[in-house]
Amino acid sequence: MRLRWLAPLLLLGCLDAFSPAGAEHLTPPTVYRVWWTEIERCAGLWGDFDRVEWYEVPGSSYTCPAHEGLCDGWWRSPHTIYMAQSRLYNRQLAEHEMLHDLLQRGDHPPVFQACGVQLN
Ligand SMILES: [Zn+2]
Repeated sequence: MRLRWLAPLLLLGCLDAFSPAGAEHLTPPTVYRVWWTEIERCAGLWGDFDRVEWYEVPGSSYTCPAHEGLCDGWWRSPHTIYMAQSRLYNRQLAEHEMLHDLLQRGDHPPVFQACGVQLN
C-alpha cells in the first residue's frame, strides 16, 4: 500500500495554522446583516452575507499576519472574518472587514475611504 503515508499528511493539512489563538465560531449579531446591506449599497457590490464565516477572538486585539502583527478585525480569503470580542459592535470595524469580503481583496482601494470605513 503505497498510499499509507498520505493519511498523516492530510491530517496535518487540516490544522489551521493561521487562526488567531482562542478564536471561536461566532453567530453574527443580527445587526451585521443591516451593516452588510449598508456597505453593499455604498460600495455598489453585492455578496451573500451567509458565505462569511465569523469568529470572535478574546480581548480587544490579537496576533494576526496583518497590520504589523496586531489586529482587532481581520478578513481572511476567501470568506473568514475574525473580530476582537470587545469590538464586535464597532460598526466601522465590522463594515471594514465586510468590505474586504465583498471586494475579495486584502488591500485598501479608495472605496474604503469613500464609504467611511478606512481605519488608521
Ligand atoms: Zn483592512
